[in-house]
Amino acid sequence: MTENIGKKSYKADLHIHSCLSPCADLTMVPSVICTKDVDILSITDHNTAENIAAFLYLCKNKVIVPGIEIHTLEDVHILGYFSTLDDAMEVSKVVGENTEPFPYDPERFGYQLLLNQAEEFVGTLDNYLGFPTNLSIDQTVDLIKKYGGLAVFAHADRKFGAIDQLGILPKGTNIVEVRKKETCQELRKSGYIVLASSDAHVPDEIGSRKIFFQNEAFCGKIDSKSVIENIALGRFRTIWD
Ligand SMILES: [Zn+2]
Ligand SMILES: [Zn+2]
Repeated sequence: MTENIGKKSYKADLHIHSCLSPCADLTMVPSVICTKDVDILSITDHNTAENIAAFLYLCKNKVIVPGIEIHTLEDVHILGYFSTLDDAMEVSKVVGENTEPFPYDPERFGYQLLLNQAEEFVGTLDNYLGFPTNLSIDQTVDLIKKYGGLAVFAHADRKFGAIDQLGILPKGTNIVEVRKKETCQELRKSGYIVLASSDAHVPDEIGSRKIFFQNEAFCGKIDSKSVIENIALGRFRTIWD
């Protein structure tokens, strides 16, 4: 993404669902998502990373951070961010192996559409992605870390978030995505790194929550790896700062 080097700051929305998530709109495809006013984005489908290759291929004007949103056994959503597509795909494969096959009715629960590099719908995933996997929170965090990823508690203060679901933030990661400014302020006091992202399921939601990186943070190279490093160091601002 060399063409944007020199901008003062970069907008990032790191929680976006593609048309592969059953609950996301069918228009959540590269040609729509990548016209939005964000520089860095992460595709984080439920329990799969299979649509990310299409975004990497078609959205050359953006930095795409390969991601996944894993639904744990405890009904908690955990985001994983990776430096490479390969790492995300390896994790996606393990998640698939740890998910009970469950035939479902796409007319009722939503289609799970796979894209190719021409943005055509080329298939569907038959097992429902909206159910918990057999992976515990600890196993999920370990799996993400094993592939060099960053584990983040998704929307911790909302349904399927760790705080909402369990009343606490389990150990394993100090990075948390929240919905409310108050939670952000509270968690920061306890030393957490707090992210704000949209969790967009329809195009209009993209960028509604986001974070900002300063150009200096990148030493000239903006890619998934440097984005992840900056998050881990807390070198960004949120919409609430
Ligand atoms: Zn979620
Ligand atoms: Zn989500």
